[in-house]
Amino acid sequence: MTIGIVGAGQLGQMLALAGYPLGLDFLFFDHSAETPAGRIAPLLAGEFHDHTLLAELARRSDVISFDWENISVEALRSAARGTRIAPPLKALGVAQDRLAEKRCFQRLGIPTTRFAAVDSRAQLARALKRIGVPGVLKTRRFGYDGKGQYVLRSYTDLDAAWDLLGSAPLLYEEFVPFEYEVSIIGARARSGATAVYPLNRNYHVDGILRLTLAPWSAPRLARAAQRSLNKLLEDFNYVGVLTVEFFVHRGRLLANEMAPRVHNSGHWTIEGAVTSQFENHVRAIAGLPLGDSSPRGHSAMINLIGTMPDARRFLAEAGVHWHDYGKEPRHGRKLGHCTINESTAARRTLRVKQLLPQLYPLLALRP
Ligand code: AMP
Repeated sequence: MTIGIVGAGQLGQMLALAGYPLGLDFLFFDHSAETPAGRIAPLLAGEFHDHTLLAELARRSDVISFDWENISVEALRSAARGTRIAPPLKALGVAQDRLAEKRCFQRLGIPTTRFAAVDSRAQLARALKRIGVPGVLKTRRFGYDGKGQYVLRSYTDLDAAWDLLGSAPLLYEEFVPFEYEVSIIGARARSGATAVYPLNRNYHVDGILRLTLAPWSAPRLARAAQRSLNKLLEDFNYVGVLTVEFFVHRGRLLANEMAPRVHNSGHWTIEGAVTSQFENHVRAIAGLPLGDSSPRGHSAMINLIGTMPDARRFLAEAGVHWHDYGKEPRHGRKLGHCTINESTAARRTLRVKQLLPQLYPLLALRP
């Protein structure tokens, strides 16, 4: 069976690495020929809306999936006619549009931030009045890792924010002075069976994920996150892995966004869970039974951003799992990650404290 994947980044690379032992083949499609997944699998290179190439991907694949969201749902739907697509395109469409996403959370009774659609300067002024400041103005589409966002701290920021982002459809939402951020990741099989991973605690700097600790022991929050995830999985009749990110505010969860794919905050599952998020995504879309999502010990995943440290130094440390995506270094770019796995949460904290300062200049993580 051949799995076709649109997008050939590190997520695609890790999907293929998880799928090869199951006897599956992979074919990627990306706008660039130099990609992490292209190092290990055949790749079609061309523009994402190229109908001919998408049709070729569909012809050569038994099922099509994607490793990032910013692809045209319409192009994919029409090119892939006759080929199964998973996760469902409806979920992809909702995740591509922050307004549709917020409305979906609302409809399913999943608590989220207060928000307003903004398509004109006058609407922004009204949204500011209704929701207040501070608030965040976000592009509805094509935002990731904090890109396409402007934090308004006072009403006088209105013009600057509008000048910067006003050319695109927008969303204004309240700024949440959250205690911390968490995410939940789960897979749903074609049979409707699910496998949900424990809660991840995520640390971002400048909108980019730097560190994940999992399992994060907060049983009440974990149950609430799982309820929200299950509602979404059922509602979309979902197949594959779905991620939901939340703010923890006054001890409660507020859904921030969802990703219809494997997620950076789940990279720890490669070494830290019985079955990784990558394998479970591949199993789900290939129509295979899901694997056990239970954690093995206590994991920490540190993203390697901008510059790769010398692997030899870190591989010499006991229990450091190193992942180099083979990407060209660039400011703010995710180049790799490393995971540690310990027997207790306390030991994990100690290891992170010991490792982070060594990676600190590279991560630019605040102490
Ligand atoms: P997003 O692209 O929406 O995931 O935003 C990236 C990061 O910006 C989040 O992980 C938060 O750290 C921060 N952020 C986004 N929206 C808000 C908000 N409404 N209030 C506070 N922080 C936010």
